[in-house]
Amino acid sequence: MKHYHSKLPNVGTTIFTVMSQLAKETGAINLSQGFPNFPVDPLLVELLEKNAQKDVHQYMPMAGSPELMTQVSKLIYDNYQRNIDASSELLITAGATQAIFTSILALISPGDEVIILDPSYDCYEPAVTLAGGIPVHVQLGDDFLPDWDRIEGVISSKTKMIITNNPHNPSGRMWSKEDVDTLELLLLKNENIILLSDEVYEFIHFEKEHISAHTVTSLSHRTIITSSFGKTFHITGWKMGYLVAPEKLMVEIKKVHQFNVFSVNSVAQATLSDYLQQSDVSILGLFYQKKRDLFQSLLKDSNFELLPCEGTYFQTVNYKAISQQNDVEFCKELAIKHKVAAIPISVFNKSNLDQKIIRFCFAKNDETLISATKILCQI
Ligand code: PMP
Ligand code: GLN
Repeated sequence: MKHYHSKLPNVGTTIFTVMSQLAKETGAINLSQGFPNFPVDPLLVELLEKNAQKDVHQYMPMAGSPELMTQVSKLIYDNYQRNIDASSELLITAGATQAIFTSILALISPGDEVIILDPSYDCYEPAVTLAGGIPVHVQLGDDFLPDWDRIEGVISSKTKMIITNNPHNPSGRMWSKEDVDTLELLLLKNENIILLSDEVYEFIHFEKEHISAHTVTSLSHRTIITSSFGKTFHITGWKMGYLVAPEKLMVEIKKVHQFNVFSVNSVAQATLSDYLQQSDVSILGLFYQKKRDLFQSLLKDSNFELLPCEGTYFQTVNYKAISQQNDVEFCKELAIKHKVAAIPISVFNKSNLDQKIIRFCFAKNDETLISATKILCQI
């Protein structure tokens, strides 16, 4: 074979892998890739052990275990008072990444435009490109909230989908009721656009309520919502999540899902089904709020400027008072010289716009947060 044509010529290794690897090599405290470093709930481990002893080691039904689907439907009803028909509107997925990839592959055709709001999570664009679609990137405002004029300005007859992410990674910002209402009005004016709402941090929010796309009933016939058990139960390595979509779209999504994974890890599904009956997601916000507050209080006298953090487990900071380096170089130096790893925000921008802002993950035990901030305060 002489020539090999890359389908993703501009894609390299993700920043999460790069920075976690650098942290390993340099011995830096890893506040880069988003994952907790504290133990999971012992009850979850106990249920996992119990389920591993049972006869749950063969394929689950394609869309998910009926028991888990019942529990997820209940979770959605309890939190958003939305009744979904699990058999036609719910799909258990191998994390939100697979939910997003499968939905895009199923619904986007060559030439379709997909609006992506930057800074954007890294898995959206490659999925659109692989489907033959055209990613249309729109920069969020300097406050990382939607600039509705800019968004409306890129809508065309080819626009097939808009991908939103609320609470937002990497900024930690959350949409107001006005933002959700504006999106609703915009999409009511443009009735062929599908909304793909990435809500993996739906339960990690602090002073503000999360306004889920589940509550926007006028759009539910063309809204896909995805969530991740990785975030909700501190188990990012399990790669478990789900998506909700109206039957018409779900029929297409399932066609791809059955050949993409067919069905998702059976022991994990059985365990999550049991665990959902004994756990309370409403404690998650306060749990992470304490970590955010600790991290913020330890950094308040540093030369980093703390930016608003309303949800997720990410704190963004501006480092303009410390350095004029670009954010990628700054993060490299931070890891190599100071031994703290962070994520540069510019890599989430198609334009590579560098705002001298970096992201720290505070889903860490207090000891880690204390050690890291001690270093950061000396810079
Ligand atoms: N979307 C966003 C915004 C994320 O931060 C993540 C987490 N890494 C994902 C999707 C993917 O979630 P999962 O790990 O469940 O695939
Ligand atoms: N979502 C995680 C983050 O934002 C990373 C997940 C991954 O490594 N793909 O840090």
